[in-house]
Amino acid sequence: MRVSSYLEVNLGLLEENFNSLKKITKAKVLFMVKANAYGHGLVPITEHCLKKNLCQDFGCAALGEALILKEKLAKYKFTVYVFSETDLAEKGALEHYRSDLIPVIHQLDDLKTILKKPEVPIVLKFNTGMNRLGIKPDDVENILKLMKKNKRTKILHVMSHYSLSYLPLAKQKKTQAQYKVFQDILREIRDSGIEIEHTSIANSGAIEQSFSTEESYVRPGLMLYGPSALYPHYSKWPGKVISKMVTKILDIQKIKKGETVGYGDHVCSQDGLRVVVPVGYGDGILTSYTNASFTYKDFPVKFFGRVNMDLSQLFFPLKAEKKIKIGDAINLWEHDGASLQEMALQMKTIPYQLLCALNERIPRVYKS
Ligand SMILES: *Cc1c(COP(=O)(O)O)cnc(C)c1O
Repeated sequence: MRVSSYLEVNLGLLEENFNSLKKITKAKVLFMVKANAYGHGLVPITEHCLKKNLCQDFGCAALGEALILKEKLAKYKFTVYVFSETDLAEKGALEHYRSDLIPVIHQLDDLKTILKKPEVPIVLKFNTGMNRLGIKPDDVENILKLMKKNKRTKILHVMSHYSLSYLPLAKQKKTQAQYKVFQDILREIRDSGIEIEHTSIANSGAIEQSFSTEESYVRPGLMLYGPSALYPHYSKWPGKVISKMVTKILDIQKIKKGETVGYGDHVCSQDGLRVVVPVGYGDGILTSYTNASFTYKDFPVKFFGRVNMDLSQLFFPLKAEKKIKIGDAINLWEHDGASLQEMALQMKTIPYQLLCALNERIPRVYKS
């Protein structure tokens, strides 16, 4: 575990982001807290939402994540959905599910399993074009048959998921097409006499564009952690990145053009300062940070040479010499929406990955 390199998580900013979301939609929020709440800490993030009454519904990817929430936050009333790895085909998994720990069913065999346990509400996810997981629209008829056979007349929540909502709606027709397929499915189910209590399809990209936000729920992830999902496209989302990745200067050395740096003898292309920081791929600072740049005290700073397991090297211009010293804290990203996104873009990746990559060697430090 690191001590002076850490992810500072500002819980007050999470509340601000919820408030900004409320200005876009009146829908209830099913907050995606999968993958350790996008790297910010599954239990503390969920607990803060519950304490502050920000939302009561949460989404995990795996049963194990949901079980941790139910164990650690047993004193709160909330519902958690398991979206993909429900483990329903595994022996013993069914007994974990109940009215507030619900599997999202994406295949017919799992529906057959869950119908054996009437106290677990039925939540179905359809494949309307994402082509990952999801029940095929053609299978609606089979679902209706199965439900009638088991004398079930109510579905708690019908869901689907977009494949291109991170692109502006004006640049693609897919999102609208998926929405139409979704509406057709809802109609077919309702026409058969089965009641649907809730519906949702919008993730951050759609919500930011106010698209399909009139369903009873929205399912944001990234935007509530701050970054826009639409980046690099223009977005009006005013979210603040709730975290700040802090490390510190371990060493500073002058370096001349032509000298080499670290493993692989990376050749320095200009005179400057070589600054060593104690974060590397052993912390989840990926090797792809090489050449990524950011700003520190108005100086352009760049990861150079290879990222090591425990250390990385940053290139500073010579003129920064009097302004930096060993022990100074450096933020790899800060709360403004742009810094993390800019870095992700340079690395040809997405903010989701940079956040999720941070592992348990980086302590999460919470402030409100
Ligand atoms: C992860 C996920 C979301 C949230 O996506 P964001 O782009 O982070 O808003 C919503 N729905 C499903 C099914 C997901 O897997």
